[in-house]
Amino acid sequence: MEKEKIKKNDFIKEIFKDPRIPEELGINRCIQCGNCSASCPAARHSSYRPRKIMQEILLGARNNLLENEDIWLCYSCFSCNLRCPRNNNPGVIIHVLRQLALKEGHGWEKVVKFKFYLESLRDSGIGWSTKAQTIEYFKELENDWVEIIKNMPEVLKELSMNPNSPRELPKEARDQIKKILELANINEDISEFEEKEEKIQKQKNEEK
Ligand code: SF4
Ligand code: SF4
Repeated sequence: MEKEKIKKNDFIKEIFKDPRIPEELGINRCIQCGNCSASCPAARHSSYRPRKIMQEILLGARNNLLENEDIWLCYSCFSCNLRCPRNNNPGVIIHVLRQLALKEGHGWEKVVKFKFYLESLRDSGIGWSTKAQTIEYFKELENDWVEIIKNMPEVLKELSMNPNSPRELPKEARDQIKKILELANINEDISEFEEKEEKIQKQKNEEK
């Protein structure tokens, strides 16, 4: 029997152009069953619903979706992909939507605070957070975690790891990574983050 051909709207075609989206992903085969929303931890705690995101994609509602703050609520846990009967993956599609949104000037307030990841990646080869930022994240969890982060050198010593540089890469590897990232214009990306950060801060000050 001839395989049913399901049409892709222009928005779906645009999403498929992204190298992260494999040809066989079932975006246009989504049957709106809702398994993704049922297994999604973000849906449990917010208005975000991957099934709804898929519905808008199928309807070609590109602009609504790129301006929708919900696309910033996914945790990238990929439970949706495991449960989808159509080999779809709302979690990875969200990454593409976020990038498209940023290109069109939406959502920068969600990402400017992560500039340090880029700087860390360029300078140390590892995109990790500073101690102060890590403490901020962990504040939302139990106090015990904050204590662990504050006392990380002792914790690492107990684990027989070097407390000064537990994950430091060899200099040669760091230099190679830096070179590759500079060729990929990481410095321009960092400048863009700085520019947007300044703009957002200015807006906040004006609103005060
Ligand atoms: S689980 Fe898959 S088929 Fe079902 S709504 Fe979600 S994406 Fe669509
Ligand atoms: S990857 Fe995102 S959309 Fe999928 S289940 Fe996890 S949080 Fe939900």
